[in-house]
Amino acid sequence: MRENIEKNPSCVDDYDRESITTEEAINKILSSISPIKKTELVPIRESLNRVLAIDVKSTINVPSAKNSAMDGYAINSKNIPKKTKTLKVVGKSLAGKPCNTSIKDGQCVKIMTGAVVPDGADTVVIQEHVETSKTQNEILIDNEIKPGSNVREAGEDIAKGAIAIKKGKNLTPADIGLLASLGIPKVEVYRKLKIAFFSTGDELRSLGEKLNVGDVYDSNRYTLYTMLSNLNVEIFDMGVVKDDKESLTQAFNEAAGEVDMLITSGGVSVGEADYIKDILEKYGNINFWKVAIKPGRPLTFGKIKSTLFFGLPGNPVSVMVTFYQFTQLAIKKFAGETSYLPIVLKAISTSSLRKKPGRVEYQRGIFEKDKNNNLTVRKTGPQGSGILRSMSEANCFIVLPIDSKEVNPGDSVDIQPFEGII
Ligand code: AMP
Ligand code: MG
Repeated sequence: MRENIEKNPSCVDDYDRESITTEEAINKILSSISPIKKTELVPIRESLNRVLAIDVKSTINVPSAKNSAMDGYAINSKNIPKKTKTLKVVGKSLAGKPCNTSIKDGQCVKIMTGAVVPDGADTVVIQEHVETSKTQNEILIDNEIKPGSNVREAGEDIAKGAIAIKKGKNLTPADIGLLASLGIPKVEVYRKLKIAFFSTGDELRSLGEKLNVGDVYDSNRYTLYTMLSNLNVEIFDMGVVKDDKESLTQAFNEAAGEVDMLITSGGVSVGEADYIKDILEKYGNINFWKVAIKPGRPLTFGKIKSTLFFGLPGNPVSVMVTFYQFTQLAIKKFAGETSYLPIVLKAISTSSLRKKPGRVEYQRGIFEKDKNNNLTVRKTGPQGSGILRSMSEANCFIVLPIDSKEVNPGDSVDIQPFEGII
């Protein structure tokens, strides 16, 4: 009897033989997902945060012609003198108004930034480095000129035929500007994923309802909705589903096969009203259901019909941790993105952090530079999985490896800045 009790891990134990590691979970998730196939053509202004479905090749040289990087005079480097030399100004080249004369020996052309460098010229001397005659017909140059300086070659940014942006990129304002610079008005992106979610729990109340003793407002619906909004997917909010087998089964069947992914929160532990895992087992299949992490160990991943399924834990911080560490990677790969892992940096902890070996912990921290310009991190108060303020105040996760023990002030730790995740 005693032996039996010891074999059953509880949620407060850190080692648990049934849990898989973070790396195993990520591998299982990524290897069970192939990117969606369907694409659509959208105007580039509507393509922010959409995933590029093709390699975009340039049909032009950018810049289209050799042009000046500065205001000055276009000269031929053969005319750079041993000491000083006078050159005759034979024309003017402005951005959008090139000068059609080509320069000959002893001549130059006044040129503005962005203007085409005329034939015969290969160098621009900036105007501060020349002396102009009263009539401005002549300039005096000296020997301190580097041949080829201040000239941008045609195709220097992107050569005609080169890949400008690779398939799988989540388009940013810079990408959209780049597409515009190539003269591309519409771009082929993957269709948006359809993702449904619901909360479970009889204690959950919607905003506007009165809280009775023991009730809580359903905050997961709001964090999930907004985390999904950031990923630019089509969202189907299925509300709160009651903690009984019939209601949950009905909700599962409504979503199965209709959306690309179903996400639930709550009801995945081993408590009396935790039916999610049983229902998934019955109508779909479970890939894994426990990961050695804190918070968020009871995380269920599987499939029901063609719909991928994530059963996130109920605690508000666990929802956010499991979403960012696992669900978001899945969504990104599914949506066609080729880069989905969070950025990890090293920082010096200024707090003591409690930690037992057995699980990877994602504590919530605030990172900043100290007066010596070193990156430091401190924890945001109590770290309970229900304390959403610990997430709200944080700007990073402090990631403590599975076998690590407590952290002392001065120790180096890994952090994932929210900027690189959220
Ligand atoms: P569960 O995983 O269903 O056992 O829930 C664990 C804890 O998270 C309980 O204290 C729940 O009241 C709380 N919880 C579950 N779902 C939500 C939700 N949608 N919003 C806020 N708290 C929740
Ligand atoms: Mg519950």
